[in-house]
Amino acid sequence: MPEIELRNIYKIFGNHPQKALDHLKKGKNKNEIYESTGQTVGVQDANFCVEKGEIFVVMGLSGSGKSTLVRMINRLIDPTAGDVIIDGENVTKMDKQELVEFRRRKTSMVFQSFALMPHLNILNNVAFGLELSGTDKETREARSLDALKQVGLEGWENAMPDELSGGMQQRVGLARALAVDPDILLMDEAFSALDPLIRTEMQDELLKLQDRHERTIVFISHDLDEALRIGDRIAIMEGGKVVQVGTPEDILQNPANDYVRAFFRGVDPTGVISAGDIVRDNQMTIIWHSKETGVRTILERLNNQDREYGYVLDSEKRFCGVVSTDSLRELIDRETSGKRNLGDAFLTDAVAVRNNEYLQDILPYVASHSWPVPVVNEDGKYLGVVSKNRFLKTLYRADNS
Ligand code: ADP
Ligand code: MG
Repeated sequence: MPEIELRNIYKIFGNHPQKALDHLKKGKNKNEIYESTGQTVGVQDANFCVEKGEIFVVMGLSGSGKSTLVRMINRLIDPTAGDVIIDGENVTKMDKQELVEFRRRKTSMVFQSFALMPHLNILNNVAFGLELSGTDKETREARSLDALKQVGLEGWENAMPDELSGGMQQRVGLARALAVDPDILLMDEAFSALDPLIRTEMQDELLKLQDRHERTIVFISHDLDEALRIGDRIAIMEGGKVVQVGTPEDILQNPANDYVRAFFRGVDPTGVISAGDIVRDNQMTIIWHSKETGVRTILERLNNQDREYGYVLDSEKRFCGVVSTDSLRELIDRETSGKRNLGDAFLTDAVAVRNNEYLQDILPYVASHSWPVPVVNEDGKYLGVVSKNRFLKTLYRADNS
């Protein structure tokens, strides 16, 4: 079950939402509807799921509906139509009391500019949210101290806000959200106001936090680098619509439209797409049962299938090496049949790459060797190959499709 599910979610701003919905059904767009009815389409028919533990980034130009969308997840904004299901509970159907309870238990939110209360010290600023929810003082302080530690602000609990830099203040904002220990973190441009260097630091911090304690994070950004850096999946919004949802690799390889393509223009696809994304299992494999596996038979099989290379695996499908028709022929010429060991025909440089290696890192290998590069998973199991041809096609498509 996904942690968050949005079903046909709409938000119309204005006094006649139904009018706007009718126009939307007739295929009118956001601008036309504003012209003819004065209603603003904030979000139009959003449908997606966010899985537990995922960092889900919502990206789009200013005004595309990102903030409206994320605020509907905890109903800071009430949807005009549609359902938000969280952990199987329909949030859109909750009454006031249930909603308060749900927010306290499940979610917290971090905003772009986080106003600390100037007369409270850092600890009390962090504890503030807990205080509102009626947590006792001792628990409040313990959890706030822990949250400050998590964001790297240990020792600052007694400082006053004006003693902290902007970056540190944003960390306090994050600590306040973490102190309530939510399953779901909603972050609306939480790092957008920070200097680039500090921003990168905060992104790393968030990834580290995620390593230690997995939460479901919906992270809004208008910055592609940020999205690519931290997003497990990305949703792209355009004029109130979610036009594409996918992993960075998916979107880069198959952008849904020109708007999405424009976003990704200038991104080096080789730093986003990994070997595992484009691997193909289309080569001849040879299972190496014993040292006596017939070298001549293998050569014949390769010749029959008009192949130059064979990929040798053990009985567990772990990659052992690559042989070529030339290397096999050489071995046959060199050794009498009793002494032939298939391993002696392995091409010396033909090592495998891991499926999670980015194309930019395997490019030198792919470019400088004539065989398709074998790809393995974390257990050393063979997944297939990346050929020069496939490599080039991927780059071409990411650039031009
Ligand atoms: P983003 O966060 O992507 O910049 P928003 O969700 O803030 O976009 O806004 C989406 C659209 O809804 C915009 O056209 C914006 O002008 C409009 N909008 C947002 N909030 C309101 C509101 N309270 N009343 C009227 N229109 C709004
Ligand atoms: Mg916004």
